[in-house]
Amino acid sequence: MSGCKVFHDFGGVTTPIVMEDLDRLASLQELDSRIDHLEQVRRSLDDGTSLRTSLDEAKTRLVQMREQLRGKQARLRALELQLESIVQKQKKLEQDLYSGRITNPKELAGLQGEVEALGRMKDRLEDEILVLLDETEGFLRDVAQLEAEVAQRERALEEYLEDYRSRIREVEGSLGLLRRRREELISQIDPELLEKYEYLRERKGGKAVAFVAGEVCGGCNVALPAGILSKVREKETLVTCEECGRILYLKMG
Ligand SMILES: [Zn+2]
Repeated sequence: MSGCKVFHDFGGVTTPIVMEDLDRLASLQELDSRIDHLEQVRRSLDDGTSLRTSLDEAKTRLVQMREQLRGKQARLRALELQLESIVQKQKKLEQDLYSGRITNPKELAGLQGEVEALGRMKDRLEDEILVLLDETEGFLRDVAQLEAEVAQRERALEEYLEDYRSRIREVEGSLGLLRRRREELISQIDPELLEKYEYLRERKGGKAVAFVAGEVCGGCNVALPAGILSKVREKETLVTCEECGRILYLKMG
């Protein structure tokens, strides 16, 4: 086994290599694949956006509903005041009517007409107030229900975020550990070999080393020729797949 390390060739052409370097390169690939996977996991974790969106929607509906409720309540107060004043006016007219002070039949008939007109207005107002009271009660129920829903969604988001943060911490903890191991490992790998590895990783979807399993390249799933396979088994040269160009490695045991 020579210490000569020139790695300019690709595609099945072999280059002398130190066996340990090849083992380290395979370990590096395994580390990098785990790092890639964890980074993917971290990216795919929902940071609570969907729960926050539905919470915001419920809050917006609550604001609108409270506003509508306030409008109904204000209208109700106004109608009640109106009713109050009509009742007062009616009372006063009735006092005049039955006081005996007014004797002119025409005047009496006019007063009677006014009292009756006020009575009709009063009936209309009372009807309207009843409808409004009904509506207001409905709104009060809906607002209370929505308030409970908002509170429930807030709790759900809080719980989710707690879980999310702990998962992120867990993933980042593992990533930190793997990255430190990676630093340690690459310090032991020949720089030129490492350069080739990084070059391939960048161009081969993160997979520079293809693990051979069942006489097939683990990178492109193409069956490897017997000559290539025996070279891979020897571990004395850097062998790359003729099909995908990845560094071939056979796991022992
Ligand atoms: Zn291949």
